[in-house]
Amino acid sequence: MSETLANLLREDRLFPPSEAFTAQANAQPGIHEEAEADFKAFWHKQALERVTWFKEPTQVLDDSNPPFYKWFSDGELNLSYNCLDRHLASSADKVAYYWVGEPGDTRTLTYQDLYDEVCRFANGLKSLGLEKGDRVAVYMGMVPELPVVMLACARLGLVHSVVFGGFSSDALADRIIDADAKVVITQDGAWRGGNVVPLKANTDVSLARTPGVEHCIVVKRTDNDVTMEDGRDIWYHDLVAGKDTVCEPVSLNAEDPLYILYTSGTTGKPKGIVHTQGGYLTSVATTHSFVFDLKADDDVYWCGADIGWVTGHSYIVYGPLANRTTGVMYEGAPNYPDFDRLWQIIEDYKVTIFYTAPTAIRAFMKWGDEYPARHDLSSLRLLGTVGEPINPEAWVWYHVNIGGERCPIVDTWWQTETGGIMISPLPGVTATKPGSATRPLPGIGADVVDDQGESVGIPGGGYLVLTRPWPSMARTIWGDDARYVETYWAKFPGKYFPGDGCKRDDDGYFWLLGRVDDIMLVSGHNISTTEVESALVSHPKVAEAAVVGRKDELTGQAIAAFVTLRGNVTGDEALIKELRDHVATSLGPIAKPKSIVFTPDLPKTRSGKIMRRLLKDISEHRQLGDVTTLANEGVVADIAEMAATSISED
Ligand code: ATP
Ligand code: MG
Repeated sequence: MSETLANLLREDRLFPPSEAFTAQANAQPGIHEEAEADFKAFWHKQALERVTWFKEPTQVLDDSNPPFYKWFSDGELNLSYNCLDRHLASSADKVAYYWVGEPGDTRTLTYQDLYDEVCRFANGLKSLGLEKGDRVAVYMGMVPELPVVMLACARLGLVHSVVFGGFSSDALADRIIDADAKVVITQDGAWRGGNVVPLKANTDVSLARTPGVEHCIVVKRTDNDVTMEDGRDIWYHDLVAGKDTVCEPVSLNAEDPLYILYTSGTTGKPKGIVHTQGGYLTSVATTHSFVFDLKADDDVYWCGADIGWVTGHSYIVYGPLANRTTGVMYEGAPNYPDFDRLWQIIEDYKVTIFYTAPTAIRAFMKWGDEYPARHDLSSLRLLGTVGEPINPEAWVWYHVNIGGERCPIVDTWWQTETGGIMISPLPGVTATKPGSATRPLPGIGADVVDDQGESVGIPGGGYLVLTRPWPSMARTIWGDDARYVETYWAKFPGKYFPGDGCKRDDDGYFWLLGRVDDIMLVSGHNISTTEVESALVSHPKVAEAAVVGRKDELTGQAIAAFVTLRGNVTGDEALIKELRDHVATSLGPIAKPKSIVFTPDLPKTRSGKIMRRLLKDISEHRQLGDVTTLANEGVVADIAEMAATSISED
């Protein structure tokens, strides 16, 4: 692994925080050092300051049974209380969500509105006989009822399992069965790109396989025809009708489960990650404040993720609401009705903080600079990104075209399992480098190690590990403690292994290199897919690229590249040569792709991440592996056909 360093993508651009930003920032220089001096004291302080407890914790970290760590385990609290009730005295009329429906309808929910709605729905759930610890599957689109449902579950101590509304009925059924959910909450349909996604009809198919489900609650959104089964199916509006707007929040132990959430399935079978109450809230409230510099009274904050992913759980629902944020929530597709929909929303609501994913940024680049240019984006003061390594050119595009060269960018590394952001710049503290997530947040311990688990030092490349527990860490994989230990704690005993490769540069900055399964071995050199892809994306004609190592008799593995071009550019033999030379110049001849296939799209998970393992299957002429989490099935067949006729060079 350490040889990855042989070919580093050079990055000399440095963006220090402005003095003005630092002067007003929530996290000030010195905060890393303060936390490092005593990380438990640091987290204890955050827990007491940011969370309202029914019973304050005196214990911080319980490490008596590693890797099953506990945090604040004698504390008691309720997350719905923390997100709603405690804000009412000062902020009942403050907007919690500006919601924008895809067809153009809008709703504004104040903290009082949200509180009333959550209590009514919680009373509805109670009337169905649900009890603390019961699992509730949620299969919805981005409508205001989704956070309502989650908070109502949290209020009663029910464990929600939100399944992204883009998943198929099979994927939903698998997750309902795995979590043994008693209730499913869905919608008649969800708007997406001008079409109705028939969520209730999909759910009906799933329910044929899930006899354990007693009730299905249906939110009316699109008014499409649905079948309601007597005794099992209930309309949301009927359930809440006449219900009281007062519902006592249940006092829960800090270590009671809050939710189960399945990982995106980029690498294989999804894992049902379990998060608990007290540590989770402490961590998401802290990171939301520090990383996004959230000022509850001034900011309009927009996390563009779907609540079906952990980013939405932590940074649309729990973190922001705990911090009394005014947020924007958008229901639909970013290119509907036109490619400037997001920029229109930023202009309309004067959004100040915007958080999205590299896959979205690369789509914006592909669509063209003219769309953001049509809008006044001057309200923005901070930008964020999450989900994959961001190619430096995509970072710079975001900085220039969306951030007006004025907004700090926080590239946040974390995963479903970590619950909250782990490695990221602090916008008033850290000088950023395009493509680097910079350094671990205060209180977080991270290192880069070799096969033996020894630190590789600075600079150096290898496996990313987290060296100490943190409050929002996953507690287990639902129903499978052994898989939890095996997946994350077995490779390097005593250290958490997230599965990602990483290098550190001379300044100690962390550069995420993608999943270790994706690292290529070419003529004895480890080469990261991320670096070759970033080299390709740094060519002005390229919008997006994916590379994989395919078996090669001569070199062990050869680099096969799949490239999507910007705007109206068409690919030909001359461009293939140009791109191969471009990579050779940026990274060295060893990293030159052996074959390049131009494709209008790349196979992606439903959360938009490139699924390299499928491209590898294609390149090595194998049957495709698990495709249930794939978003765009047609594209795989197209690419397979193009790859079969592509020309290899040396
Ligand atoms: P699965 O674990 O089922 O294969 P997944 O890993 O895609 O799915 P998530 O938990 O949604 O599921 O994604 C976390 C992963 O995304 C990280 O482990 C990392 O590979 C990648 N990632 C997230 N943010 C960043 C970032 N800022 N830079 C680099 N990689 C990132
Ligand atoms: Mg993962």
